[in-house]
Amino acid sequence: EPMISTREEEMRRKTLEHPCYNCKGHKFARIHLPVAPACNVQCKYCVRKFDCPNESRPGVTSVILTPEEGLSRYLAVKEKMPNLTVVGIAGPGEALENWESVKSLFELIRAHDPHVTFCLSTNGLKLPLYAEELAKLSVSHVTVTLNAVDPHISGQMYQYIRFMGKEYTGDAAGAIMVANQLAGIRLLVASGVLVKVNIVTVRGINDGHVAEVVKTVKDLGCFITNIMQMIPVEGSIFEQVEPISNKQLTEIRKQCEEIMPQMYHCQHCRADAVGTLTDDKSIELKGFLNEEPK
Ligand code: SF4
Ligand code: SF4
Repeated sequence: EPMISTREEEMRRKTLEHPCYNCKGHKFARIHLPVAPACNVQCKYCVRKFDCPNESRPGVTSVILTPEEGLSRYLAVKEKMPNLTVVGIAGPGEALENWESVKSLFELIRAHDPHVTFCLSTNGLKLPLYAEELAKLSVSHVTVTLNAVDPHISGQMYQYIRFMGKEYTGDAAGAIMVANQLAGIRLLVASGVLVKVNIVTVRGINDGHVAEVVKTVKDLGCFITNIMQMIPVEGSIFEQVEPISNKQLTEIRKQCEEIMPQMYHCQHCRADAVGTLTDDKSIELKGFLNEEPK
């Protein structure tokens, strides 16, 4: 009989109770704590006054919390919502560009709750720097947005990226993004973190390249991919780009399902989402949380 380690058992429980990693987990709730305002790239489908659309619904603005406010919100919601199993950081900017806040929030919550699942979504640029630290902080589930594995295609997704004090555009930006995203995913998988990959599909740019991305991340040991339509946001560079049709999205997902598991139940959550995937309570909880917008 092979011994199942406690860590493996814990990962299995956490994944069963994670509504985004497992469609049978829909009765479990997650809370997003918006502690990460800054971003280190400019995706062409993003307007920075709104939440990061790599994980969130476009056109929504979340109020930023300090780590201490994040902890209070978590504790208040946990009291009302016993099915709350996951704490996620999904913006409103890039989690790893706000590392100190993210780290102290996770430490504060962990001191109160040894069991809750920590989840984070990232554009992957700084992932090689933080992958092992994330695992040490007991972040068990990470979502990486990886829209291309070809640097030339990737470069067309960003107006610019900022890395180690320099700005890059075009193929150079794409080369750095892809190298760091893939290295970061490797390090996460090697540290035992479950990785979900979000792919934002943009007509005429990466819509013929999605299967290639899925094959690559399957080989890297990722758990599931979430293929999304780019939804054009007013004021973004891709504002005029028509989204791929639902039919094309279904076709791409079907094709990719032959390669690895696909997520079909993504709800494009807000960066301050609270509740189960189908019953978001963030709006009605606003009063209860008694917050003044800053
Ligand atoms: Fe916007 Fe997210 Fe891209 Fe940053 S990573 S520019 S917040 S979509
Ligand atoms: Fe994690 Fe994304 Fe689910 Fe939020 S929506 S809990 S960041 S997988």
